[in-house]
Amino acid sequence: MTPLSRLIRTMIETDGPMGIDRFMTVALAHPQHGYYITRDPLGAAGDFTTAPEISQVFGELIGVWAVAQWQAMGEPQSFLLVELGPGRGTLMADLLRAAQVRPHFGKAAKLHLIETSPVLRAAQAARLGPGATWHFSLESLPAGPALVIANEFFDALPIRQFECRGGRWFERLVGLQGGGLKLGLAAQPVKLGLSGQDGAVMEVAPEREAVAEALGDRLKAQGGAALVIDYGHTVTAPGDTLQAVRAHGFAAVLERPGEADITSHVDFEQLGHAFRRGGAVVPPVMRQGDFLTAMGLAARVERLAGQLQGGDRENFVSAARRLAEEAAMGALFKVMTVHSPRTPAPYPFGVS
Ligand code: SAH
Repeated sequence: MTPLSRLIRTMIETDGPMGIDRFMTVALAHPQHGYYITRDPLGAAGDFTTAPEISQVFGELIGVWAVAQWQAMGEPQSFLLVELGPGRGTLMADLLRAAQVRPHFGKAAKLHLIETSPVLRAAQAARLGPGATWHFSLESLPAGPALVIANEFFDALPIRQFECRGGRWFERLVGLQGGGLKLGLAAQPVKLGLSGQDGAVMEVAPEREAVAEALGDRLKAQGGAALVIDYGHTVTAPGDTLQAVRAHGFAAVLERPGEADITSHVDFEQLGHAFRRGGAVVPPVMRQGDFLTAMGLAARVERLAGQLQGGDRENFVSAARRLAEEAAMGALFKVMTVHSPRTPAPYPFGVS
């Protein structure tokens, strides 16, 4: 039993069963014991590994994307370079290094990082040096055109789940059974306006959509573009994608709140609608493999591999391939761009 299992049990005893969104918020973001608040979860010694931690090529190619988009925007002399949930700062460090091919980019970029974790803020500061400004949310960003990057950020925002029983939808709630946490269903059905088979699960992500709508609104009003990368599906579909990950393996979602990462797959269709509600333009989503290939993955890997020998070379090439291979991250991960109606559509979206 973790400190948060005890707290959640008390909350349920007081207020009754809670939605999965509330459970996720407490498990991930509790100010004292929340998963993201207390640790650096990334890398071999942590719980999971992300693309920027697998290969430097990932952040470098996003750097190429950012420079191309800055040029398409007319090379503004000052703009916000924003990252949502920057982890260890690895992606941003690789992005900025690759962007040095256009020295004015680095001078124009004002770095703003949106991060709730004090542990990861410290890691980002150590990696990126002075000059960044940290925020807890989009609201406190200063005005101006922005390029925004979010890798594996939206999957960490809470969702709600509904289950179909006898043609009606019931919210899945976390309740108590024998002193432990147990998933059950609300007593009263809700109207989802959907038909479903018995046992079907639908997920909705109001918090995710609120961030997307606010970002869409900001991009429309002030110019710029965002690049959102995450695991998920292009078209809304039923399915239970809630998952907990601990020490690089799947864990039971309710078992050790505060000690496992809890996420779900991103529904890019609904995320796109939210960005559009805010006023941004949303070109069709790409698969990560296709995006990286279009950004020049093969040439970059070949160039860097040429500087390595033997086992180092093999490891480098196979890590970079993992990002794009269909059986690894190339197909499950999707890349969405959104942009201001005043900003040209970012390469390579809509190019076929
Ligand atoms: N982008 C990084 C890290 C992904 S993990 C990478 O690819 O390696 C998720 C990141 O989002 C972490 O930095 C985590 O602390 C941050 N995060 C999670 N929920 C957040 C929230 N509500 N607001 C801001 N940051 C959040």
